[in-house]
Amino acid sequence: MSTTVPSESVPRGAGSRGAQYVYFFGDGRAEGRGDMKDLLGGKGAGLAEMTNAGVPVPAGFTITTDVCRYYYANSHRLPEGFDSEESEALARLERVMEKKLGDPHDPLLVSVRSGAKFSMPGMMDTILNLGLNDRSVQGLAKKTGNERFAWDCYRRFLQMYGNVVLGIEKEEFEHRIAERKKKRRVTQDVELNAEDFQTLVAEFKAIVRKHSGREFPQDPIQQLHGARDAVFGSWMNDRAVFYRKQNRIPDDLGTAVNVQAMVFGNLSEDSGTGVGFTRNPATGQKEFYGEFLMNAQGEDVVAGIRTPQPLASLKKNQPRVYRELHEVTRMLEKHYKDVQDFEFTIQEGKLFLLQTRNGKRTAAAAVKIAVDMVEEGLIGEEEALLRVDPASLDQLLHPHLADKVGLPELAKGLPASPGAAVGAVVFTADEAAERGGKGERVILVRNETVPDDIHGMTAAQGIVTATGGMTSHAAVVARGMGRVCVVGASDLRIDLARKQLTAGGKTVREGDEISVDGSRGVVYVGVAKLEDPALTGDFGRFMEIADKHRRLGVRANADQPVDAKKAREFGATGIGLCRTEHMFFAEDRLPHVVQMILSASTYKAQEKALEGKRGELARETGAKAQAALKKEIAALSKAIRAPEKAYKGAIAKLLVAQRRDFRDIFLAMDGFPVTIRTLDPPLHEFLPKREELIADVARLETELALRRKAPPSVARKLREKKALLARVEELHEFNPMLGHRGCRLGITYPEVTEMQARAILEGAVQAEEKGAKAYPEIMIPLIGTVEEFHDQRAIVDRVAQEVFQKADRSVDFKVGTMIEVPRAALTAGQIAREAEFFSFGTNDLTQMTFGYSRDDAGKFLPEYLERKILPGDPFVSIDVSGVGRLIRMGTDEGRAARPGLKIGICGEHGGDPASVEFCHAAGLDYVSASPFRVPIARLAAAQAVVRGKGKGSDNR
Ligand code: PEP
Ligand code: MG
Repeated sequence: MSTTVPSESVPRGAGSRGAQYVYFFGDGRAEGRGDMKDLLGGKGAGLAEMTNAGVPVPAGFTITTDVCRYYYANSHRLPEGFDSEESEALARLERVMEKKLGDPHDPLLVSVRSGAKFSMPGMMDTILNLGLNDRSVQGLAKKTGNERFAWDCYRRFLQMYGNVVLGIEKEEFEHRIAERKKKRRVTQDVELNAEDFQTLVAEFKAIVRKHSGREFPQDPIQQLHGARDAVFGSWMNDRAVFYRKQNRIPDDLGTAVNVQAMVFGNLSEDSGTGVGFTRNPATGQKEFYGEFLMNAQGEDVVAGIRTPQPLASLKKNQPRVYRELHEVTRMLEKHYKDVQDFEFTIQEGKLFLLQTRNGKRTAAAAVKIAVDMVEEGLIGEEEALLRVDPASLDQLLHPHLADKVGLPELAKGLPASPGAAVGAVVFTADEAAERGGKGERVILVRNETVPDDIHGMTAAQGIVTATGGMTSHAAVVARGMGRVCVVGASDLRIDLARKQLTAGGKTVREGDEISVDGSRGVVYVGVAKLEDPALTGDFGRFMEIADKHRRLGVRANADQPVDAKKAREFGATGIGLCRTEHMFFAEDRLPHVVQMILSASTYKAQEKALEGKRGELARETGAKAQAALKKEIAALSKAIRAPEKAYKGAIAKLLVAQRRDFRDIFLAMDGFPVTIRTLDPPLHEFLPKREELIADVARLETELALRRKAPPSVARKLREKKALLARVEELHEFNPMLGHRGCRLGITYPEVTEMQARAILEGAVQAEEKGAKAYPEIMIPLIGTVEEFHDQRAIVDRVAQEVFQKADRSVDFKVGTMIEVPRAALTAGQIAREAEFFSFGTNDLTQMTFGYSRDDAGKFLPEYLERKILPGDPFVSIDVSGVGRLIRMGTDEGRAARPGLKIGICGEHGGDPASVEFCHAAGLDYVSASPFRVPIARLAAAQAVVRGKGKGSDNR
């Protein structure tokens, strides 16, 4: 046991006249109050509050935390005046209970329990049945008419006292009990009889004698003092010290000690014990709910040896007690204004409440209870909003697994995208697309996913990866699409050659069915039962309340018209990020994207050469040289034709597809803003992997060498693969996330920005022609300097003019930028002079501020978190002091340069409640989250208002 002394050595009030060390409760009155947790601990304050509220609570008294602190500061002595207060309280307890401690005929028994300000379950010690000795045990037996009960109580007391007060190992006692059972040829404690316990009592007293060198104290007062001091001592036991460290509870608070009369549910047939809730904690239904056992003790109800009865049958057994229990608990619910989880004991027909606390509940129950309590006038709307954990809403938005899955667990990973999915295992995106396309339910299992897996991810019900973190490709894309996803299930070993996976000693083959719980990050073998979400009723009503109170707007990250529809269903009032590149991966577009990339470098090189020659020609004065240059220009103009056709032809095809997509998104989001980002990822992401191409080239070369008459298609394929490989190698970058991506692509390939701006604005015109109202917001990614923005904005403005002139109508639109490079945040004032809105891309901003690669941080982040080098994963919740500072700085300087500048965030943090609260406080206009996290953000935004943090913004 540690002997460290808490730092604060002088108790409040110690030594001053009038300091009260002991607070009595019982007989309908308590000296303490519910708000005195500092002094009485949580349990003591609760007992006082219940007593004052008229709840039948066994009487007792609480020794304050001041005494504990004095005890430590003064070499385990007690403050002056304490002894007499304690004796008076004990005498009062004896009067109220009409029994005396140690009475040989009808003894009062008490429990002695710890109780700190903050609950520290199981960390400190408890002693029950105190007051028993060789004489009073006889009295208890006679009084209760139950010898076995009395001797059982005594041996339990000896055991607890021996262990807690005298420091004897528990095993010493347990060993004797085991021996006794063996001797009697029984296996359960309940099979031991009164004589057995009597024998055990004698043996236990011998153990005490042997270990402490003294007899077990027969004097109940000596017992009480020993127990009290042991409870004080347990404040500094190793596990309590460890628990406080883990939970950041200061060591100098000290614990209170509660001495309370024991009541017994196992005294007679009209005694019993039970637990219950004032409303159903699973569904939220307003029903009195619980279980009880007659003639039983607390642990019998939970031990599972006897089957408890539903509370409804107490109504038949003991109608008066039932009525009283119902009334008392209803009153408690009213008093605490929340669902109560209570424990009760009936001793010989008399009801006692032993404990009540706010009940834990499912998300569905939390929502229903919050809404019902508002309607009942028990709580206000603001309080109701705080009663539901935003993150828990996830459970309600997707089909989910029942609480008891009942299937063998295959692997555990990170809960990347919530909900539950069931389907046949497939290992490639093509297989997923093929089987999914035929209507089969499939789960795509990969080591990791890459952008060109998108068709398989779309077709799958769920995605499981062996590697990756919460912002890995699989996680981000799955959340965006609302696909169930578990990432980083590191036990999975995928054997592609054998088309099977193994994990935890189990093997699953392609086509075998598995179930994925994306809310809890667990994968099961077999088909689990799914439960459907309900977005109306109580949920709808609750979200209406949230919307009424929030100021922060909530948009969705959505790339497809179907996602946009889903986003609106979930209550998004706009799209905060449409990642256009996701549209490039569809089967009918990817070939054009590849063609565009392949022809781009040749075209650009020749274009540059041509421009150079034209410049030379303009400067050249000699006729001969001019003629030579003209010849070269003619040859170059001819040579550029093919790559130009390929490059611009591919872009023209993409224009058609993107225009259609954007038009449909504007139609789905009629009347709401839609922020569309121009191309962002490095181009190599659209091409096959280098290693795969090398293997393909080698295979085709071997085929050509071995087959004398290989068909011409083999040579053609080889040429194509070699060209692809050359381009892939050309595009290779050491740090692609810091390389040729974002606006850097748009600057070097302005035709792409031009095509996208045209597709967006023409799509908007077409949507308006169909009667919708479109609000396009064109967003340039990865800006680091205002010049970059200036360059891209000029293209958009020129295209807008052309489009509107041709259509003979215009559309309201804005051009703004992502702020995701720290330099952009630091120069926000300059950028805001040109940009009409900002959207913080907190994924990249986090990556670049910390210098942690989003895709590789999984290698060290878990250890950082475990060792508390970081307080939390900065890719999940905004790092307020670093990244958050850049956001505040960017916001303030941006608005100083352009008052009313519209500002949001669109990184994954937009669906994280703590980050939403930060965004509210930083004064942002909106957050944008994946569709399924929209309701979470709506509630978190409302809670931010209620908690009164920050200044918020009135712009919805
Ligand atoms: C971001 O960086 O926060 C962002 C939204 O962009 P992406 O995740 O596509 O890089
Ligand atoms: Mg980004």
